[in-house]
Amino acid sequence: MKKIGFVGLGNMGARMVTNLLNANYGVIGYDINEEFVKQLLPKGLKKASDLNDISKDIDIIITMLPNGEIVEQVLDTIIDSLKPGTLITDCSTIDVDKAKILHQKCEDRKLLCLDAPVSGGVGGAENGTLTFMVGGTEDAYEMMLPLFEIMGKKSLLCGSCGTGQATKACNNMLLATTMIGVGEAFNLGKNLGLDPQKLFEILSTSTGSCWAINNYCPIKGVGPESPADNNFEPGFSASLMFKDLSIALKAIQSTNTSAPFGTKAQENFGNMVNQKKGDLDFSAITKFNE
Ligand code: NAD
Repeated sequence: MKKIGFVGLGNMGARMVTNLLNANYGVIGYDINEEFVKQLLPKGLKKASDLNDISKDIDIIITMLPNGEIVEQVLDTIIDSLKPGTLITDCSTIDVDKAKILHQKCEDRKLLCLDAPVSGGVGGAENGTLTFMVGGTEDAYEMMLPLFEIMGKKSLLCGSCGTGQATKACNNMLLATTMIGVGEAFNLGKNLGLDPQKLFEILSTSTGSCWAINNYCPIKGVGPESPADNNFEPGFSASLMFKDLSIALKAIQSTNTSAPFGTKAQENFGNMVNQKKGDLDFSAITKFNE
């Protein structure tokens, strides 16, 4: 069985590690917050005293960290002590260019690398039902596949390095713009005197239907249970959505893509964060725009 190192044991990482431990993998873990490490020790996690401790005699290192700068710092710290052929799988959401830089650093040291951001949130991490969007080589993907199958319900090799992050940027830009659109449709309906439940029944089964309506309806008491029924407690926070949209915006600019809705969505979520509402679920953007 492959020996695994895991860096970043926060909301997502702790749950992903738990699934690996439950599948009897030996995992050594590190987080700058010792409390998060301690909570996983009873589940069988081995504690790394520092980052270098994690890189000793390891086959696969998974990172689940807040941003690309931190992932790069972690990689720079351990890269010289990893044996050739070690696989680095970064599951954090980071920008496409940074992901390519990390791949290059790994290639230069004869290490394997995958960018493998996820969709599915904390619930998906808990239940082992994440979707992994993967960029890298076939060899690296094959090595990681058994672990993707434990932590997720779907993984797809999207293409070469950076394509996992690129796919994630497209997905979350679409999610943000559809969520804003859903809010506008319900606001218009309210101002036209429509019953929101009846509007939901039609929208969720008509051409306007989408994940943001059908699975995550942002109107309290309407549709399946969602953060709207819980004072917009996340879920997936508006500040994380802003981070993802900022990654998308960088990609929009660097590729000269025309994306006025995605660009506007980034601005809207930026306003929400500036007004100290970033800790609310991202679907609260629909109230914010009212
Ligand atoms: P989180 O803040 O809960 O966890 C990040 C962890 O990294 C924290 O425990 C923090 O202490 C640790 N950390 C920070 N710097 C470190 C360092 N230098 N060395 C070691 N550990 C360090 O975040 P999260 O919600 O678990 O998200 C992790 C990543 O997954 C992010 O990139 C996020 O965008 C992405 N993501 C999150 C969700 C979600 O719903 N939360 C969904 C999809 C993707």
